[in-house]
Amino acid sequence: MRFSPVELARSANRLSKERRKAQMRRHLHPVRRIERVAPPPGRRVVAMTFDDGPCAGPARPGDGQGLTESLLKTLEQYGARGTFDIIGTTAFNYPDREGHLHTARWSGVKHDHYPEFGRDELAGAANQPGLVRQILDGGHELANHGYHHVAFGPSRFIYGSREFLPNLAAVIEDLKQLHQLIEHSFGYRLKLARPPHYIDHTADGYSAYHAYCAMGYLYLAASFDGGGWKPSCGDYRKDVENMVTPLARALAADPDSLNGQIIFQKDGYNMSKQSPVCDALPRQLELLKRYDYRVVTVSELLSLSPYTDLDPSHPVAEKIRQLERVGFVLAYMDNSFQPERLLTRGELAVMLLKPGLEEMKEVRAKLGTCRQNDNSPAFKDVPPQNPYAAAISRTAALGLIQARGELFYPDRTASWQEIKEAAIALCRLLKLSLPTPTVPSHERPVNRLAALEVLAPYLLAL
Ligand SMILES: [Zn+2]
Repeated sequence: MRFSPVELARSANRLSKERRKAQMRRHLHPVRRIERVAPPPGRRVVAMTFDDGPCAGPARPGDGQGLTESLLKTLEQYGARGTFDIIGTTAFNYPDREGHLHTARWSGVKHDHYPEFGRDELAGAANQPGLVRQILDGGHELANHGYHHVAFGPSRFIYGSREFLPNLAAVIEDLKQLHQLIEHSFGYRLKLARPPHYIDHTADGYSAYHAYCAMGYLYLAASFDGGGWKPSCGDYRKDVENMVTPLARALAADPDSLNGQIIFQKDGYNMSKQSPVCDALPRQLELLKRYDYRVVTVSELLSLSPYTDLDPSHPVAEKIRQLERVGFVLAYMDNSFQPERLLTRGELAVMLLKPGLEEMKEVRAKLGTCRQNDNSPAFKDVPPQNPYAAAISRTAALGLIQARGELFYPDRTASWQEIKEAAIALCRLLKLSLPTPTVPSHERPVNRLAALEVLAPYLLAL
């Protein structure tokens, strides 16, 4: 059988995506990728994100109303709250030339220009602070989409002609610029972020997750495409229709299907320099209303249901939420909780560390940075590239988990005896007056939820 180069590239891409996904499911990480969450029971909620604004460019050609204002008006009309994934400005992304309309390079060959080439002053928080104020006054949420909307790293295919930021430090600098602008001008602290064009890797071998770890952000993804970015099919009314039909079909097939999902929308023009979103949005919201959905910000969605696979009404869920709120790292990078998964000693090390301590800052930084330059690993079986290396050496040094001489056995499942010893050691270390936990006497391995149920009172007391 022979394959064309395109087919080969596609299948290589698919394989590497699958590998990445599998890896994300295995790593406890302070930066979770929020794509969707487990349906909150007893109600229907959905979130919507609006990328690339704010935008003062006309909602429709010749229209007096700006795009962001039009979206805000519609959201208000339906009592809906959006998450606006804003940029700072693309005004510095020159010299450049305009690309072909209806392609990914429509707004520029080397860079993106929002809302369009040569009209950069009409978009972005740095140019349109009044629109940012209106977004916040409407009760909506903001997310960091990069000050300059420059890709975090190279892209081989669709965005091959694009310039990208030189390294991780430059990515963090770009994020900080927007973060500080929003904090200083509006007293608003950004907590969520999405990389331009979802290009995650940096040129120096790091990723968006490292940058977001440094910023204390969660990774904002989406699970349902609102479709407003696509090139026009040549008929504007059909473009609008094409944004409404998939939603109508999904809801007709299963009215609960959108519960806990995040819908991707644009606060900018599509590849044909039009904004069908302003005519599709009222119809999408009308549909959601008909099916009894509440449209909330992503943060509100997360407060109702934080993970993809944990029923928020589970008796332990509230404790887990409290721990997460104060910064404990309890879930995997793909935002799964995997309550039934057996707990390893390496994971126990990560889960035991109290945030806020000086040491924890270092550990969190290292957790987010798999590439470490520590040449003297504490244990023979924990190489520096083990993502939990820093947490392991710290918990072992504090006597929270016992090592066996030069070996830690990070992948071995934890026993009930070890959970009990960790709780006792925590009490001793931090002078907590809590009773010793009662744990089952059998030696069967412990799952994550059961372990947290026992450890939560000790961790919450820290
Ligand atoms: Zn974007």
